[in-house]
Amino acid sequence: MHELTLCFNLIRILEQTANSASPPITRIKTVWLEIGELAGIDLDAIRFSFPIAATHSLAKDATLKIKTQAGQALCHNCDKNVTLSSLLAPCSICGQYNYTITQGKVFRVIRMETI
Ligand SMILES: [Zn+2]
Repeated sequence: MHELTLCFNLIRILEQTANSASPPITRIKTVWLEIGELAGIDLDAIRFSFPIAATHSLAKDATLKIKTQAGQALCHNCDKNVTLSSLLAPCSICGQYNYTITQGKVFRVIRMETI
């Protein structure tokens, strides 16, 4: 379950950021994540893993908010940007796989609210 590993890494980065703030942040109240639909990340697994990873951290009891980013690709046959619902989906216009993914693989913190 790589989502748990992602959450542990996320908490470590949030704590480093909190500790280097001046004055240091003592508690993280809310974390906003942006996750791409093509990032290969299960959102339910993230929601499940986050509180486990946050135990004994500054983000203990923090609320997690997730914003999704739609998948997009530039199709080289159609020369158009198309929406891609998954990494296994063909171009929605020509049905081929001759495309370059241009959006939807992000995993990042947009914002955190602290006390
Ligand atoms: Zn196409």
